[in-house]
Amino acid sequence: GGASNADHAVQGTSNDAAVSRESAARLGYIVDPFIRYFVKPANQRRAPLINRGTYCRFHGVQNTLCQFAQALAATETSTGGQIVVLGAGFDTSYFILEKEGLNVGKFFEIDFAEITAKKAAAIYRHSDLKSLLPPDTTVAMGGSELHSSRYSLLSGDLREFQIQLVPKLLERGFDLNEPTLFLSECVLIYLDPQHSDQIIDWITQSVPNAAILTYEQIRPDDRFGQMMIDNLRARLLELRGLHAYPTLESTSQRFMSRGWHSAKAIDLADYHDRCIDDSERARLAKIEFIDEWEEFTLLAQHYAFTFAHSKDAEPFQMLCPL
Ligand code: SAM
Repeated sequence: GGASNADHAVQGTSNDAAVSRESAARLGYIVDPFIRYFVKPANQRRAPLINRGTYCRFHGVQNTLCQFAQALAATETSTGGQIVVLGAGFDTSYFILEKEGLNVGKFFEIDFAEITAKKAAAIYRHSDLKSLLPPDTTVAMGGSELHSSRYSLLSGDLREFQIQLVPKLLERGFDLNEPTLFLSECVLIYLDPQHSDQIIDWITQSVPNAAILTYEQIRPDDRFGQMMIDNLRARLLELRGLHAYPTLESTSQRFMSRGWHSAKAIDLADYHDRCIDDSERARLAKIEFIDEWEEFTLLAQHYAFTFAHSKDAEPFQMLCPL
């Protein structure tokens, strides 16, 4: 309850992300048979440059999640590891991994109750989604949470991570000693650095075997960055002041300065050039031709993956040439 107008605006961004993903899925850029259940009406079309960006974003995230799940499944003693999606919105990764048989030990998703309630309702409305829930799933917190032995949808405010969310995670079976991959996709920019630092510091101190993948807009303050940014993010960044604007260097530096073992960042333009196969690029060109490569590069230089891990653990030496 009691969400401010700014909070409502931030929650609304989960729809934009889902619309972009549904557009890319419907056109055949990405394989996500589940996103359409979270978007209505499912027929908005994004521009080719945006679809190409969505493709790269999806490619980087899914590769990381799959490699993590595979690495852990290959370890005989392992109990499968954990994935925690911060600000999950209508992310469908859990369902994609389940369908592929790439299930991790435990999958947690966190967002505001307003969003998780919508997500839980959509899951229960569609048997394609509901049938992929573990059989012991129960609905809780007035419909805003799902609990089970392998999947938990948890509601709370990331700005109150330690007070609200850590107890919920522990209550729902989060194991501090399991290898754990955290995912944060277009979420940190909506949090005050002080609040995201608190999340990062908790991970550093409490989860010895941790990795994190973030995907965020960078350099929002240059001329092109300003053009792409919506009013909401512009306002939030203005409140924070210039020093907080993320750059490619600062996103990885942030983890190194907080004692992580390794942190690397790559912008989406580089990711597109170095991590997408020629055959895949030929396939994409047939879906929609891009003739403004300069514009794509400019756009893609304003988004970046950052991958950090807390120690030199085997499941975490991955993610393309990052
Ligand atoms: N990660 C999803 C994706 O990529 O599709 C959603 C991205 S959306 C741009 C940002 C999400 O972060 C929204 O679902 C929003 O509700 C969530 N979020 C932002 N601030 C939050 C906070 N303080 N507590 C919980 N969730 C938050």
